[in-house]
Amino acid sequence: MPGFEFFGDLERKEVNDVLDSGVLMRYGFDKARNHWKALELEQQVAERMEVKHAHVVSSGTAALTVALMATHINSGDEVILPTFTFVASFEAILSVGAVPILVDVDDTLGLNAEAVEKAITKKTKAVMAVHMCGSMADLTSLRKVCKKHKLILIEDACQAIGGTFNNKPLGSIGKIGCFSFDYVKTITCGEGGAIITNSKDLFTKAQAYTDHGHDHLGTDRGADKHPILGYNFRISELNAAVGVAQVKRLDDFIAIQKKHYRIIEEVLKNIPEVTFRRIPKGGVQNYSFFNFFLPTKAATKRVHEAFGKQGVDATFYWFDNNWHYHKKWDHLKHLKGLNYFSNAQYDGLPNYYKSDFSASDAIISKTISCLIKLSWTEEEVRERAQKMAKIIKELG
Ligand SMILES: *Cc1c(COP(=O)(O)O)cnc(C)c1O
Repeated sequence: MPGFEFFGDLERKEVNDVLDSGVLMRYGFDKARNHWKALELEQQVAERMEVKHAHVVSSGTAALTVALMATHINSGDEVILPTFTFVASFEAILSVGAVPILVDVDDTLGLNAEAVEKAITKKTKAVMAVHMCGSMADLTSLRKVCKKHKLILIEDACQAIGGTFNNKPLGSIGKIGCFSFDYVKTITCGEGGAIITNSKDLFTKAQAYTDHGHDHLGTDRGADKHPILGYNFRISELNAAVGVAQVKRLDDFIAIQKKHYRIIEEVLKNIPEVTFRRIPKGGVQNYSFFNFFLPTKAATKRVHEAFGKQGVDATFYWFDNNWHYHKKWDHLKHLKGLNYFSNAQYDGLPNYYKSDFSASDAIISKTISCLIKLSWTEEEVRERAQKMAKIIKELG
């Protein structure tokens, strides 16, 4: 997955443009600058993702936060999210005063639409579909549920940039989509993120909110009006410059990932114990991870451990992972922050120790995800696939 494997002259040139002028900020200083990297990146992202608007920000977490703000998720509103995601999902929800409602995933490794529907209450405002590990949640059924109950669909496509659903880029299917360009994502700025949307209204709100409420209507930054209170989630021009280079390489990166993915798939598909994560009808992955299931939790743990010991690196057993699965989220379950949350949040948060997430557990406990690296040679991928197959046949 990581674009950090492939930095080169393209990135250097873009960054040097910024260093040469010395204007590290994305707004203002018009006379001193001859580059608008953040703006350029926004145009590239909008075009590549086939949407009217893109706005780049300082991180994927910022993108999620801004998406929630722009769609008016208010204090005490409930936002449904999966039990399998990165902690950023609920951090963003909590940061806007809303209540994160965890819901089971299915064999897509994304939200189960039936479970979503069961979790809907009068307070539910939005569904955050997280496209984990290179592929997507079942967007057909999630869209149906959202439409029926008038809920906002937010896509977290941080781990699946470049994947598609019914020929549309992931992130462009919901009301608003979010990407991360952090250091380990498919394309990276070092730190950065983006929201995409076809709504001018959402875009206008988002770009004001991320820059202290600036309306960005004039050319004199100091004379800008501030129609709303905002915050600072700006990306720096230096980071955006790296992004400008990386986004041009996205399709090349995906092609390499796909090639490596297919080699591993060819070998593992013949092993009866191995089944693959379900790709919803109409979906195409970005191939950033190779994800598969084994028949039992014990076998999955054994195989994952053996992978690590025998040099099959960068594989994940999410069930025991500290950051990506509900089992290790005691800080969320106890609402342990630096300061107090609102009463609406304390009262609204379910007692997750009493929740039944056995449907998620049954899936995630049998899942192994393997990062697909760009820098592998074909020979290395083949050796790796053979090694994986040998271990699975022995221990699976
Ligand atoms: C990385 C990631 C984020 C957060 O992005 P940052 O840029 O690291 O803040 C959010 N959601 C998912 C699914 C991620 O993988």
